[in-house]
Amino acid sequence: MSSSAPKLEPIEDSVDAKAPPRRSLKKLKLIGDFIKRYPRQLSFAVIALFVAVLATLSVPSALGRIVDKGFGASNEAVIDQYFLGLIGVVIVLALATALRFYYVTWLGERVVADIRIAVHSNLLTLSPSFFEENRPSEIASRLTADTTLIQTVVGSSASIALRNFLMAVLGTVYLAYISPKLMAMIALVIPAVIIPIIVLGRRVRNLSRKSQDRIADVGAMADEALSALNVVQAFTHEPIERDRFTGAVNEAFETAKKRTLVRSLMTATVIFLIFGAIAFVLWQGAKDVIAGRMTGGVITEFIFAAAIVAGAYGALIEVYGDLMRAAGAAGRLGDLMTTEPTISAPAEPQEFQAPVRGHIQIEGLSFRYPAKQDIPALKNFTLDIAPGETVALVGPSGAGKSTVFQLLQRFYDPQTGQVRIDGVPIETLDPRNLRANMALVPQETVIFAASARENILYGRPEATEAEIIEAARDAVAIDYLEALPEGLDTYLGDKGVRLSGGQRQRLAIARAILRDAPILLLDEATSSLDTESEKQVQKALERLMKGRTTLVIAHRLSTVLRADRILVMEDGEIVAEGTHKSLMDEDGLYARLARLQFETDDVA
Ligand code: ATP
Repeated sequence: MSSSAPKLEPIEDSVDAKAPPRRSLKKLKLIGDFIKRYPRQLSFAVIALFVAVLATLSVPSALGRIVDKGFGASNEAVIDQYFLGLIGVVIVLALATALRFYYVTWLGERVVADIRIAVHSNLLTLSPSFFEENRPSEIASRLTADTTLIQTVVGSSASIALRNFLMAVLGTVYLAYISPKLMAMIALVIPAVIIPIIVLGRRVRNLSRKSQDRIADVGAMADEALSALNVVQAFTHEPIERDRFTGAVNEAFETAKKRTLVRSLMTATVIFLIFGAIAFVLWQGAKDVIAGRMTGGVITEFIFAAAIVAGAYGALIEVYGDLMRAAGAAGRLGDLMTTEPTISAPAEPQEFQAPVRGHIQIEGLSFRYPAKQDIPALKNFTLDIAPGETVALVGPSGAGKSTVFQLLQRFYDPQTGQVRIDGVPIETLDPRNLRANMALVPQETVIFAASARENILYGRPEATEAEIIEAARDAVAIDYLEALPEGLDTYLGDKGVRLSGGQRQRLAIARAILRDAPILLLDEATSSLDTESEKQVQKALERLMKGRTTLVIAHRLSTVLRADRILVMEDGEIVAEGTHKSLMDEDGLYARLARLQFETDDVA
C-alpha cells in the first residue's frame, strides 16, 4: 500500500524550461469558488463597479457638451445646468467608488481567511510522508505569502481589472460612436501596441517566478540558521552564515532588479505606443476640426474618452502580472487544499469494544518508507504484547525501533502484514480513534509556545484542574512547575527553552499521564540526565507505565531491567528476545550493546 506523497509544484528552479507554464489564469477559478459564497457582497461590489464605470465614462460627454453648447451659447443658465450635472455625476462616482472599495476589500479579506482555514484544515489530515516531501517551512510560507497575493488580487487587482476591462470595452464602443473614423485609425495601430506587450509580459512573468523562488530561498535559509543559532554560534559560523545569507538576499535583489527593469521597459513602451497612437489619431482629428468636419466639443469628448480608455488598457496591463502571480498562488494553494491523505478512515470504521485492554498483535509486518524504497525498515516483524505488559525494544541506530511506533500509530501502512489492537485490524479503525487510545512520549519533548498548563492539557484538553495537578504530581513535575514565576501559567517560551531537559521530559510524561490511554509508546530520551533528574524521570515513568501496555524504545538499563521482555532489533528484524539476564548470558548483540550503552548507567 505504499503510495508516495504527492509532490507540490517545486519552488526550486527545477521546472522544465520547455514545460508549458503552469500558471494559467484558469487557476483563478479556485478564488472564484470562494467568492461565490458571498453573493450579497459580490453583487454590491459589481453594481458599484458598474455605476462607477458609467459615471466615469459620462464625464467626457458632459465636458464635450459644455464646450459645444455652454461656451457657444452665452447663456449662463445653460452653463450652470451642465456644471450641476457634472457635479452630480462626480458625487455618484465618489459614492460608487467608496462602496466598491469597501465590498471588494471585504471580499478579499474574507476569501483569504477562508482559503487559509481550508488549507490548514486539510494539512492537518495529511500523513507524515507528505511533509517529508514538502518542507513545512515552505508550506507555512504558502499559507502566508501565497494567500497575501490572493488578497491583493481579490481585494484590489481583480476589481481594477474588472473596472478597467469594462471601461476599455465600453469606452472603445463609445469612441467608435463619437467618431468611427478616428476609432478605425486607432484599431489599425492596436496590433503595434499589443504585440510588444505580449512579448515583454511573458518575460516579466518568468522573472517574477524566479524572483519569488529566490525570496523563498532567503526565507528558508534564515529559518534554518536562526532555528539552530546556538549551533551556528558554537561553531563560530556567524560570518559564513552572514555571507551565505547576504549572497541569497543579493541574488533575490538581482532577480527583482531584472524583473523591475523589464517591467519598467514594458511600461515605457506601452505608454509611448498608446499615447503616440492617440497623438497620431488626434492630429488627424485636429485637421478634421479645422476643415469643419468635426466640432470642438466632439474632439474634446473624444480626447477625454480616449485618455480614459488608454488609461484603462494601461491599468489592465499593470494588473495582468498580479493576476498571473495570483493564479500561480491559487494553483499551489488549491493543491494543498485538495491533497488527499494517504492514510484515512475507512467508509465504515470499526469501533473498539470498551474498555480497550491494549492487546497488541503485530503479524508479519514488512515496510519500506516511501522516501527510501530500496531498503526495508521492517522485515517480517511479528510481536504479541499482552495487555499490561512492558516490552523494551533495543537495538543499534537505524534498526527500525521508531518505525514500529510509526506503524502502530498508523502514520504509514505496511506493504505486508497487519497490526491488530484487541483483535481489531488497525486499518479498519478511524486513525483518530486508534491514536486516542495511545499515549506517546517522544524522544524529543515537543513543548508548544504556551503556558505549562496548556502544554500538559495537550494530553486531554477537557481535563479538570485537579486532574492536571494530579498528572503533574505523578510526573514528579509539580514542584518545579509550582516554583516557576507564575506557576502553571508560566509561559514556557518557544519550544520550551526555559526548561531543563529533565523538566521537559517530565512535562511530556505529565501529558501522557493525563491522556490516560491503555497503550503507552515511550521513546526514551538518549541524552543523559544527571543522577537526580534521572531518578525523578524514572519515578515518573514508573507511575505512567502502571497498568498500561507499554512499548518502550529503551536507552537505559533501569528500563530494560524493569521490562517484562526485551526484544533486540537489528536491520528491521527481531534477532533476540529475553530478559536482561538471559540476553547477557547469550553474549550476543544485546550484551555488546548493553556494555556500550549502559556502562555509565549508575543503576548497573
Ligand atoms: P534510532 O535509534 O537511531 O532512532 P531506529 O531503530 O529507531 O533508530 P528507525 O528510525 O526505525 O530506526 O529507522 C529504520 C530505517 O528506516 C533506517 O534505515 C532509517 O534510515 C529509515 N527511515 C526512518 N525514517 C524514515 C523516513 N521518514 N523516510 C525514509 N526512511 C526512513
